[in-house]
Formats: sequence, structure tokens, C-alpha cells
Amino acid sequence: MNIYKYDIVFQEVPDHVSLAFYVCGCPLKCPGCHSPELWTEKTGTPLTTELLQQLITRYRGRITCVLFLGGEWHEAELCQFLKVCHHNHLHTALYTGLTEVSVRLLEGLDYLKTGPWVRALGGLDSPTTNQVFRDLRTGKILNHLFQHNTKEPSL
Ligand code: SF4
Repeated sequence: MNIYKYDIVFQEVPDHVSLAFYVCGCPLKCPGCHSPELWTEKTGTPLTTELLQQLITRYRGRITCVLFLGGEWHEAELCQFLKVCHHNHLHTALYTGLTEVSVRLLEGLDYLKTGPWVRALGGLDSPTTNQVFRDLRTGKILNHLFQHNTKEPSL
């Protein structure tokens, strides 16, 4: 699994500081994609469990979650990485343009954002978005946390 870059991000997973990996090779090619550099795997460098562990050790105490964005369909590898994160007592999150993922992946994740980018509908901060951000531990949809000046929807 190749990554284009990694970064520390503050808003992608509510209430968490996340080590985010931008995974290469996204096949979805959503029109208007904000990260077309992720469409090909050729621009990336391999992520290994050793590198992941190295980075977790480097940022220990400063991060609470590890987030994967983009090319999540390298499922076996991703599941292995998620185990390493949990072993280090970190939460796990995945942003995918797909509308669903396998049970195997769900078992390794705490948070999941699903849905392709559709410019007319907007992202998680838009009330009309098609995308869904879910806390998989509770099953709750947390889109309201991204939408300023909106209240939690009643169920
Ligand atoms: S799923 Fe995300 S990374 Fe992939 S094309 Fe769509 S917006 Fe871009």
C-alpha cells in the first residue's frame, strides 16, 4: 500500500488529533476531487508496519487516532495496520468514497466516513451532503459535528 504523504490533522475525526495517511491509488476519480494526486499509486512510497510503528512512537502522547484517506482497498494490509494502531491504544478511522466496506474492515475501525465527493451536495460540513461520518462503536452518525450552527438530528 503506497502513501502520498502523512500529516497530523485536527478536524477530520471529531475530538481527536489524528495521524493521517494519504493512500495512493484511489480508483473512484470523483469529478472535482480535492486530491487527484491520490489517483495513481505511482506517486507514492510504501507504508510498512515498521514505518507505521515508527511514526506512532514519534507522535505518542500527541495523537489519539490514526486515519487512512484514499486507497483503502488494499484490505489485508490495511487490516494489519489497524491492528497495529489498536495495539498502540489508538483509535482508527477510514475515509472512503465507497458507500460500504467489508465486515473485516469494520471490525478494525472506530470511525468511518463513506460516500464519494459530489460537488453539488458538498462535504461533511454541508447539510445536503451524501457523505456519512459514523462512530462505529455506537453506530451514531456524527455529521452534525462537522456542520456549524446545526443541531444534532433527532433520531
Ligand atoms: S474517493 Fe476521495 S480521493 Fe478518491 S476520487 Fe473521490 S474525492 Fe478523490
